[in-house]
Order: sequence, then structure tokens, then C-alpha cells
Amino acid sequence: MTTVKGPEGIDIKRFPTFKENFKAKPWKIQATRSHILHSKCSQNEEICALNPCNFCVYSRALELKHFPDMVFPNNILSLEHETGAKIEFNALDALKRVSNGKINIRLPFANEWRESRADRKEFLEEKVKPFDWTFTTDYMGTISGFHVEETEDRINFDLLTKRGGILFYQDLTLYEDEVHDRGVASLSVKIRIMTDSLFILLRYFLRIDDSMIRINDTRIYHNFQTPYILREYTSRESKIRDLDVPPGLLIEPSLIASRVPLKHSSYHKLSVEPKPEENTTQLLDNQSTDDVTQVKAIHEDEASNSNT
Ligand SMILES: [Zn+2]
Repeated sequence: MTTVKGPEGIDIKRFPTFKENFKAKPWKIQATRSHILHSKCSQNEEICALNPCNFCVYSRALELKHFPDMVFPNNILSLEHETGAKIEFNALDALKRVSNGKINIRLPFANEWRESRADRKEFLEEKVKPFDWTFTTDYMGTISGFHVEETEDRINFDLLTKRGGILFYQDLTLYEDEVHDRGVASLSVKIRIMTDSLFILLRYFLRIDDSMIRINDTRIYHNFQTPYILREYTSRESKIRDLDVPPGLLIEPSLIASRVPLKHSSYHKLSVEPKPEENTTQLLDNQSTDDVTQVKAIHEDEASNSNT
């Protein structure tokens, strides 16, 4: 394999990419993880014109003034149905939904935050840029091949916490930023698969110290016996002074999420779209040989710390 010397003299192609697969027919679930995004092009213009490095892919696709402190371009969780329908969670698509100069959304607490850092040069520079330095995203995953409709159905969390053991667990950070040492903005995705169902939590968490908390959650639940997936999105936000919680809890989103006021929510049912006509016979053949859902753990991982 050809390796390329990066700007820090590191063999870029030799970074290991951790990969885990799990099959729960008709689904194939895959989690990959690897190193953070380089701060500049890791190859050179000529090579990247044809075969771009991750930095060049991100630079071309995003119009952000800068990226979060840490971006993990290879941390990807994907669920693929045998029809080809797919749900994927990746940092690039999440960052595409961060507002830049074109959208120019003013944050509700930006003025308060600015007052507390008016002496900072970098703040003065930010002031003239209509750039969302919190990297807030309402990303709910990248989906294809699904019919999406609003639903009155809700995820039954009682069922989720009671049922059996966890066969597969992954927790991937997609990006993280320290908001100029004043807090944290992070996006992560967790998955756990049980014998009868799977659950995913994609969480954007923002804490600006002494100012505010924002939590945008996407929850995905699929019972293997049903032909659809439930997706719930909630956006929660509060000034910290309005939250009646001990300061220690402010660093732990899973402990305070339910106590932060809900600002917006949406509930969807995702159904796999039928295959084109010519493939119908093939699909039926496959189903007849696998009338029982087969769940096979290829690799089991830490089953602890699986808070919803
Ligand atoms: Zn490049």
C-alpha cells in the first residue's frame, strides 16, 4: 500500500481504522472510528484534485470559518437494510447544518456571552462574522431509501430499559469544540442492540459556562418485529441561571437533559421503501430461507454506560 507523508511527517494511510460489524437480518450495522481531522491538507493539491484527503473534502463541502477543535471524519455509524435503504451518522453531514454567513442566525444568548468576553481579541473578530461558533446542528442522520412520515407513535422507554442483555454497543464522537475555553459543544452518537430491538441516541450538547445549555437529541428505535423505525427529535435549551440543578451536573448531559425545557420536537416513522419490481422475487426468496430474525454478534463491546 502506498503511504503519503503528511505535514507532520506521519504516514497518513497507516492510521488504523477501527471497524465493527453486527448483523441483525435484514440489517447490517457498522461502526468505524479513526483519527481526528488534520488541521491542513494531508497530501498535496495535485493528489487531492483527484483523490481528496478528508481535510479537502471538508473544506470544499463546508463554508464554515473554521472547524470544531476536534472533528472525527471516520467516526461513522451506519445501518443498512438489505434493500439498500440506509441511515448513517457522520460529522460532515452534521456540520453542513451549522449556520454560516448565508443564514445568519443570531443566537439568543450571544449578547450576554459577548459582554463577558468583550476584552478578548478573538471575540472582536467573531463579532463581525455571522458564524455559529457553537456548531449547533439539528442533524438527525443521513437517510436514503426510506418513506418518512409524521407519527403519533412514541418510543416506549420502559420497554427499552427492561428487556434483556446488550449484544452490541458503540459510542462515537463526531465532533467536539471547547467554545474558546468557555464550555463545550459536542456531537456524539451511541448505539445499543438488544435481542429484539436497537436504540440510537445522537446528541448535540452545548454548554457555555455561566450562560446556557442546549441539547438537541435524535433518538432512533427499531423493534426487529416491526416494519418501521421510530425517530424522535427534541431540542432543549435554557439559561443556566434558570436551571435548578447542582453545578456538577452541568457537565453531564444525560443527567440534566430531562430538566432542560423542551423548545421543539418532532416524531417520525421511517419505513423501508419497497425494492423496484424486478427484485421482488429475489427478496421473497431470501425471506423464505430466513423466516426467523437472526441476530449474530460478531464482536461484543462494553455494555456499560448505556444511558438513554
Ligand atoms: Zn488535501
